[in-house]
Amino acid sequence: MNLSSTLHRFTVVPSLPKELAGLQRIAYNLWWSWEPEAIGLFKRLDPELWRLTRHNPLEVLGSLQQATFESLMADEGFMSHLSQVEERLTEYLSSHTWYERHGNSGARIAYFSMEFGLHESLPIYSGGLGILAGDHLKSASDLGLPLVGVGLLYRQGYFRQYLNLEGWQQEIYPENDFYNLPLHQEKDRDGKPVAFSLEYPGRNVRVQVWRVQVGRVNLYLLDTNLEENAPADREITTRLYGGDQELRIRQEILLGIGGIRALRLLGAEPNVCHMNEGHAAFLALERIRSLMEQRQLTFREAMEAVRGGNVFTTHTPVEAGIDHFPPDLLDQYMGHYYRNLGLSREQFMALGMQNHGRSNESFCMAVLAMKLSLHSNGVSELHGEVSRRMWADVWPDLPEEQLPLTYVTNGVHQKSWLSEEMTGLLIRFLGTRWLEQSADQLWRRVSRIPDAELWRTHRRGTEQLVDYARRSLRAQLEKLDASAKEIDAAGDVLDPEILTIGFARRFATYKRGTLLLHDKERLFRILNHPERPVQIVFAGKAHPADHQGKELIRQIVQLSQQPEFRRRIVFLEDYDISVARRLVQGVDIWLNTPLRPLEASGTSGMKVAFNGGLNLSILDGWWCEGYRGNNGWAIGRGEVYDDLAYQNQVESRAIYDLLEKEIVPLFYNRGNDGIPRGWTTFMKSSMQTLCPVFSTDRMVQEYARRCYLPAFEHWERLNRDDLRLAVELARWKERLHGMWGELSIVAVHAEIQKEVMVGEMLPISVQITPGRIPLSEIAVEVYFGVLDSRGAIIGGEIVPLTPVADPEKAGHFGGELECRFCGRHGFMLRVMPRHPELGTVYDPGLILWG
Ligand SMILES: *Cc1c(COP(=O)(O)O)cnc(C)c1O
Repeated sequence: MNLSSTLHRFTVVPSLPKELAGLQRIAYNLWWSWEPEAIGLFKRLDPELWRLTRHNPLEVLGSLQQATFESLMADEGFMSHLSQVEERLTEYLSSHTWYERHGNSGARIAYFSMEFGLHESLPIYSGGLGILAGDHLKSASDLGLPLVGVGLLYRQGYFRQYLNLEGWQQEIYPENDFYNLPLHQEKDRDGKPVAFSLEYPGRNVRVQVWRVQVGRVNLYLLDTNLEENAPADREITTRLYGGDQELRIRQEILLGIGGIRALRLLGAEPNVCHMNEGHAAFLALERIRSLMEQRQLTFREAMEAVRGGNVFTTHTPVEAGIDHFPPDLLDQYMGHYYRNLGLSREQFMALGMQNHGRSNESFCMAVLAMKLSLHSNGVSELHGEVSRRMWADVWPDLPEEQLPLTYVTNGVHQKSWLSEEMTGLLIRFLGTRWLEQSADQLWRRVSRIPDAELWRTHRRGTEQLVDYARRSLRAQLEKLDASAKEIDAAGDVLDPEILTIGFARRFATYKRGTLLLHDKERLFRILNHPERPVQIVFAGKAHPADHQGKELIRQIVQLSQQPEFRRRIVFLEDYDISVARRLVQGVDIWLNTPLRPLEASGTSGMKVAFNGGLNLSILDGWWCEGYRGNNGWAIGRGEVYDDLAYQNQVESRAIYDLLEKEIVPLFYNRGNDGIPRGWTTFMKSSMQTLCPVFSTDRMVQEYARRCYLPAFEHWERLNRDDLRLAVELARWKERLHGMWGELSIVAVHAEIQKEVMVGEMLPISVQITPGRIPLSEIAVEVYFGVLDSRGAIIGGEIVPLTPVADPEKAGHFGGELECRFCGRHGFMLRVMPRHPELGTVYDPGLILWG
């Protein structure tokens, strides 16, 4: 008998009296998670339960008894707290926003991500990428962007970590109880749940759509765990980053193709799509396919129309961090799709390969995303550079620095990461406008905060961290049936008065979590110095399949169990948003030791800066832009060594030296009042220089200005008049491809003396024969600049040449180069297509260098 067909299901929801209905309204909008007053409201209901439910308001509400409701309603203080928070929410949702002043009402942006880290009670994230996506949505809400999020709703999410007595990581996968999460099931006009069928090889999979409200922003989450689906298909949304490549491609089909279908079904079809990493790149194909079908277009025509409206962000320079699929797997899962797109297998594979034709290249989702997006970017200045090198073959005939692959440096959502105490202090001295905009002038006012107040506010964070670490360590040991003596001893680890270093991140080997342990004797002396001791709090998960990562964790845990380190080193288990928050609010120093240049950006150091902690980091990712000499410390100068063992030795020594000679003395050099003035000066310059820059407010504004709005405008132009321009552009390019071979450069003449003075103008003339290509459809340009030691142009500029007016001289172009800098210069000539409405156009294969 099929038992599931006889099982009657029903859902019980908390039945709140109408006086308390506001609690539910607030709990269903994640806005509460960055509003201290709202957090305080839920905590007040039952502080113990609040902690036990991992700060989940719905679970707390669900377990309250009738008697509690009555006493709450009789509590005037509580009722006025509730109405205050509710008013605030209403006010937030209706206030004027940045986007209303700067945006465009026609844009509809969809942000796609495999994971979203919004709050610890909604565990559908694993780490940095998800947290960034969560912070992106929150700032998009604050700024009022017309943006929706699209992701997957995992039944088990990412694993939770606990450590056995040997320090070996164990993984557990608790089920997410959807009815205790702030999820709305999307319903259509008839009140039926929104669901649709998605084609997989040989079958259709049913997908349903949930919504999470993040302030003003809707986050749509897709779910295949439905009875009508086969067990293997129900697994698609079980775990984040679990399973093999086959499961991954199924998830990515769901996210990209399913995501676009869901939005269309909801009447929220976007015109700008942002792919947060390559996982969602299939969305570009679905946009093309659907346009081809609706308007009877060819692949190229539809691609021209869609590409302008796609934005892609890459997050890793680590090859293993990027999805690659073997062509066979694509045949199996996307075979029907190539045919729908009117592409041959060859043509389809070329979309996901840098260098099609090179043997055994696999299909790369990042390449697909870049080929089908007009805007691509890395996440810090250095990562932009590294990415251009890494992906140079996607744009085969452009010089590296000219690739359409720029950078937008990451940030953090300040309100989500600031401690309540620090927020209060900042409001007192900066006012409240810094909460809405990140202006330099406002942050300069940090200098007005009395040193003692800043110091004490930060110490409060350390006290809370120490308190939390003790409780957490106790609980860890109790779970493992440790001896009463051991459990008791957890009560005296750490000390809120001493210099506290934090190190928490994914235990991937390139992050070098054990670099600080390189010389244990020296570490021992630093930590146990009689007058100036130091302590370290570690946390972080290793991917379940990463044994090397787990080994690093084990080494740290075992060290922390040795008597001479026991009070000075603690490893906190189950690193998540909640643990991260305590850490970044309580540490004095945030240590970051990636192998340059493998950390694309990093964001936890930014969270620390907002709370007055200082960074000690390798010059990698964001810290290359953030470090100013007097706002934290750099380990090394950005050197890259060939010998890893040697590099580890040099860089661990550099850390010990910095600690012994600069950091520890600065921290313990106190005035008569016990305040370390030198240290607070560093804290202030760190806050002044970093806070206005490394926030998602700045970041999302930058995406809006530099990517979303240009993408929308481009998309609009191409789609206007029934896609006239898109169709024309595709056909025009096709025509040019047919004639391009006829084009040649006959002569180049520049009057170069041996030495040219700065500021001098160099006349240059060129003769070309265009073949059948009309002269009005090509641009002749000089790419010109200073040469580096390898003879490559750096920081080059493009100087357009103009046709010579003399009708006798058809095909002659001329112009002048201005030599604005000293040094060796070089120039290269190039001919590119020029479209009457779009100007110079780059298309692979349509460029002639001379
Ligand atoms: C901020 C954060 C990250 C990102 O950390 P980085 O190592 O700086 O990239 C990862 N996990 C959690 C829980 C975080 O809060």
